[in-house]
Amino acid sequence: MPGHPATLLRDVFGFDAFRPGQEEIVEAVSGGENVLAIMPTGGGKSLCYQLPALLRDGVTVVISPLIALMRDQVRALRAAGVEAGALTSGNTEEETAAVWDALSEGRLKLLYIAPERLAAGSAMGMLRRIGVSLIAVDEAHCVSQWGHDFRPDYLRIGELRRALGVPLAAFTATADAETRDEIVQKLFDGTPPVSFLHGFDRPNIHLAFAPKDGPRRQIMEFASARKGQCGIVYCGTRAKTETLARALGEGGHNAVAYHGGMEPDARRHVEHRFNTEDELIVVATVAFGMGVDKPDIRWVAHADLPKSIEAYYQEIGRAGRDGAPAETLTLFGPDDIRLRRSQIDEGLAPPERRMADHARLNALLGLAEAQQCRRATLLQYFGETETVCGNCDLCDTPPQLFDGTEAVRKALSAILRTGEYFGTQHVIDVLLGNPTEKIRARGHDGLPTFGVGRDLPRPEWQGIFRQMMGLDLVRPDPERHGALRMTEAARPVLRGEEGVTLRRDTLKSKSRRPAPRALVSDEDAPLLSALKAKRRALAEAANVPPYIVFNDRTLIE
Ligand code: ADP
Ligand code: MG
Repeated sequence: MPGHPATLLRDVFGFDAFRPGQEEIVEAVSGGENVLAIMPTGGGKSLCYQLPALLRDGVTVVISPLIALMRDQVRALRAAGVEAGALTSGNTEEETAAVWDALSEGRLKLLYIAPERLAAGSAMGMLRRIGVSLIAVDEAHCVSQWGHDFRPDYLRIGELRRALGVPLAAFTATADAETRDEIVQKLFDGTPPVSFLHGFDRPNIHLAFAPKDGPRRQIMEFASARKGQCGIVYCGTRAKTETLARALGEGGHNAVAYHGGMEPDARRHVEHRFNTEDELIVVATVAFGMGVDKPDIRWVAHADLPKSIEAYYQEIGRAGRDGAPAETLTLFGPDDIRLRRSQIDEGLAPPERRMADHARLNALLGLAEAQQCRRATLLQYFGETETVCGNCDLCDTPPQLFDGTEAVRKALSAILRTGEYFGTQHVIDVLLGNPTEKIRARGHDGLPTFGVGRDLPRPEWQGIFRQMMGLDLVRPDPERHGALRMTEAARPVLRGEEGVTLRRDTLKSKSRRPAPRALVSDEDAPLLSALKAKRRALAEAANVPPYIVFNDRTLIE
């Protein structure tokens, strides 16, 4: 079966990045090593044998203790177009016949077997005939007689491995040394396999997120505070890598762009420079990373929100491989959320995969809007527990929390009163009682919610709306120019059954920022104001915040 792990990961499994540890395990298993991998529950062990099964010739036999889990996995694999089947006592006759057909035609890639099947004398003979190339043992701790999950039939697996003479990969979440030793004895006859026992934590990497508040200035400040160090800035688009690299260059940095649209030679040149120069900043799309193996990258910044929590972990993980302190900063804003949601909705993936993608994006947004230790929140997602790390922005400065229930209720009712048909800015205008032309044209100044949010300033409302999107209480609808729609999760809040705790944003006050006008010379001013007016009219029509591209600088108002 042809294919490259990263391609199969995306095309078959629908994931954009490996989870921590998966890539190394997949490599060892598909390379034919005997492997023992210990990963927390929810860490993604199934993929570590399912993907190698596609890379190897012949059939991978999966032994797993629970029939229901086997059936779920077989169903999911088939839905992804992978030939998989199960032989269990729960099968109908037709199911069993279909598995045999697929086996005899050499089509089957994964055969799930319940351990008690191994007890039947015929099973060994059958497995010997069908061209098994790999044995995968899920929940391998079931071989341990001292654990509470002991399954006597697991003791036959060692025999099966000897009889077939093929590599075996064993997976479990149970990390204690005794269980590990027992697995090595019973499954591998005492010969230690290649073993993986990773914590996912990278304690030397400082984690930080910030809402976008003049992103170009934020990245510039972050880079300038780390002058002379190697860093990567990840951007959401190719065009942005070029403009941001130029801006950093003008700011006195040694910065180059890198993206998948560049000629292979040019890309290799950047990789070479990055690997050999001491002070280079590469401003890149996610295309940058595979070929990079530099241990002393001191910082990674995201100018745009990554795609998923897995992608985030992988990208920041390029920093500080040498174990020395490294820093990260991830910027995010409502536009990112809108973009990522619409990328998912407009993709061609089947509905259940889109749901999973939204859930993974929610996990990243939950991390972005976390109210306590960033690292604890991240590790929790990968199945590990940690209380507080002392090396993230939220440990440095715990955020100010407030009861946002009332504000969220006002916002939700303004969204509903305006027919779930408008974007953030318009709804905020309603809350602020701002009689814009659009408000008057739609008669929204007559709504009961008109002006009920005057107690808070606009930037505060913007933070609240962003957090509502982060908490998935509202979603921008890509089919309606990003108009905000309420989700099911918001109903209990609206009904007064649930409360919402929010963070107070600590944005730099607008007045301390250099006025955007400073970027523009006097003779350009009339042109700029004409552009502004035009842009504003277009933005009104399209319900997006107005921005102006001027002299290659983007001014967001
Ligand atoms: P485990 O067996 O280690 O408890 P699973 O194999 O059941 O974990 O995977 C847990 C969840 O993680 C599943 O929903 C799976 O789809 C998801 N998952 C696995 N690998 C990835 C990945 N690389 N990116 C995103 N999600 C993943
Ligand atoms: Mg599992």
